[in-house]
Amino acid sequence: MIFGGVESGGTKWILAVGSSPDDLDDVTTIPTTTPRETLERVGEFFDRHSEIAAVGIGSFGPIDLREGSPRYGTITTTPKPGWSNTSVGGFLRSRLNVPVVVDTDVNAAALGEGRWGAAGDVDSFCYITIGTGIGGGVVVHGEAVHGLLHPEIGHMRIPHDVARDPFAGTCPYHGDCFEGLASGEALRARFGRDPAGVRDEEAWGLEAEYIALGLMNVVSTLSPQRIILGGGVMNETTLLPCVRRRLTDLAAGYFDAAELSAPGIDSFVVTPALADRSGVCGALELARRASSDSRGGCAAPA
Ligand code: ZN
Repeated sequence: MIFGGVESGGTKWILAVGSSPDDLDDVTTIPTTTPRETLERVGEFFDRHSEIAAVGIGSFGPIDLREGSPRYGTITTTPKPGWSNTSVGGFLRSRLNVPVVVDTDVNAAALGEGRWGAAGDVDSFCYITIGTGIGGGVVVHGEAVHGLLHPEIGHMRIPHDVARDPFAGTCPYHGDCFEGLASGEALRARFGRDPAGVRDEEAWGLEAEYIALGLMNVVSTLSPQRIILGGGVMNETTLLPCVRRRLTDLAAGYFDAAELSAPGIDSFVVTPALADRSGVCGALELARRASSDSRGGCAAPA
């Protein structure tokens, strides 16, 4: 069976048709412009692929994922101008005559890594992206976690030593939350340049500290069997070893798990196996699940 996958982001959308990462018939990237123009282009893309059995969407958010909600699949309070209250799921449901299911971009990426990537051998894990923003997807026993709304790992609070780092943070809602202190946007604001151009050991040490503090909270609350760290900020190659080292320091021997000390930490905090295709491949997995289970999502009317 062939599915459609959408990874929607604040700057671009990735659209794909296929059944697995090795079998993508068509992959297209479009820029994020206005909601109407962007969604129309997505509709036109899938109009060319009448063979698809369902469409999965991994969307930026926050997004309403409550089953049965009239606003299911609607982006709610995003700071992205013009996109608040955009019904991504509803638009595609009415446009395409197939089931359409929506999840967060990071839950989708987690499901993709679970099906084909770095979490194929575990069933409870997290995918965390440290990019322009910070987000985290959570899979427990093979199912993406939603709960009250959906996890917002980027907005958890982490200790902020203002003597070491007087920067106030960039989150428009919380200032110095995890994303406000450690996202690519925060790095850009703190150092006044693109993070890729920052060649300062102390700066990356601080970044590793914040990421390790975030991961420590995740380990303590969710007990994942693995954490996959994606996103553009992680392209800085000195970061991952430093995060692993600081996380083992913070764990301080409390957890009775080889994964939380060296050398086990190297296979506990890992990079995505699907690189920048985790999200769109996860969207295909969402679609596969929707086509075999019509309980939730924006199922097309019979
Ligand atoms: Zn925040």
